[in-house]
Amino acid sequence: MRAVRLTRLGNRLEEADIPIPEVGSSDVLIRIAAAGICHSDAHYRAGISEIDDLPLTLGHEIAGRVEEVGSNVAHVSAGDRVCVHYLMHCGTCEFCVRGLEQFCRSGQMIGKNRDGGYAEFIKVPGPNAFPLPDEIPFEIGAIMMCSSATALHALKKARFKAGESIAIFGFGGLGFSALQLALAFDCGDVYVVEINPAKLASAANMGAIAIDARTEDPVEQIKEATAAMGVDVALELIGSAKTMRQAVLCLGPLGRAALVGLTAESISIFPYMELINKEAEIIGVSDHLASEVPALLEFARSGKLRFPPETLCVVDLDGAQINAALDALQDSIDHVRTVIVPRV
Ligand SMILES: [Zn+2]
Ligand SMILES: [Zn+2]
Repeated sequence: MRAVRLTRLGNRLEEADIPIPEVGSSDVLIRIAAAGICHSDAHYRAGISEIDDLPLTLGHEIAGRVEEVGSNVAHVSAGDRVCVHYLMHCGTCEFCVRGLEQFCRSGQMIGKNRDGGYAEFIKVPGPNAFPLPDEIPFEIGAIMMCSSATALHALKKARFKAGESIAIFGFGGLGFSALQLALAFDCGDVYVVEINPAKLASAANMGAIAIDARTEDPVEQIKEATAAMGVDVALELIGSAKTMRQAVLCLGPLGRAALVGLTAESISIFPYMELINKEAEIIGVSDHLASEVPALLEFARSGKLRFPPETLCVVDLDGAQINAALDALQDSIDHVRTVIVPRV
């Protein structure tokens, strides 16, 4: 089968012809119909994140049709539409038994610790394949399983509830999902902080109050819009020390800042005035849980979570096109996500 793989850190991905994986008794073989190209894939290619074994097929946002199932797999069968939960876990360690598989002692991420979706086929353990409702196109089924799933997990970690106000820092795949999910939760005012004019306009179109961080300090703008109260929840989805600090500073009393973006920088907080006085909280958010996938699929099936065609850019399973899409992620792209749709 065709695959586009990382063979050396820091190098461009390369096309390869590799065997179709053999299906074990608990596995599902999927013919990939769509695979999202994620910011983290650009980090893996650049060698910023640790990769154990090369060559590796990247891609952790995957949807397709079941080609074959092992003898122990009963919940899906050949021909079914499925999407993939990218965290593989043992199911028996002290974290897995508590439903916290993102901390699994022997957890692996598809597309990072083992071959992913930049290919014609992928083999995944049965529990990682979720039936994809007919109403959800493959492209959406693929990208939902990373950015939307993590956005939902972030809202849950922040204990976000109906009527609360929220500030969303960054309007890429995560922010685009977070805004729609917040609206689906019947939120109060939503502020979207961005520097990209096209993204500010689309956030405003979708019902958010656009905060242009190029013109004035976003914290001041949010304070002004909330009569100095601040917001109940802030999501930091960019991964910069500056916006992380802003996410904390725009909180009101009992506010929660959920930090999702990755950075190696440190942030400074003045505990008394900025945290203690307000009984504010800073919460770390890592990935998402298999138990959250059914709710997420229902948001998409019912049309509350949507990715209109103009938010997607489609490329073929082609080395040059995929490398170019990864290059483009280094700048702020106007569309939400690039998806690989292998030409049949
Ligand atoms: Zn991703
Ligand atoms: Zn485990």
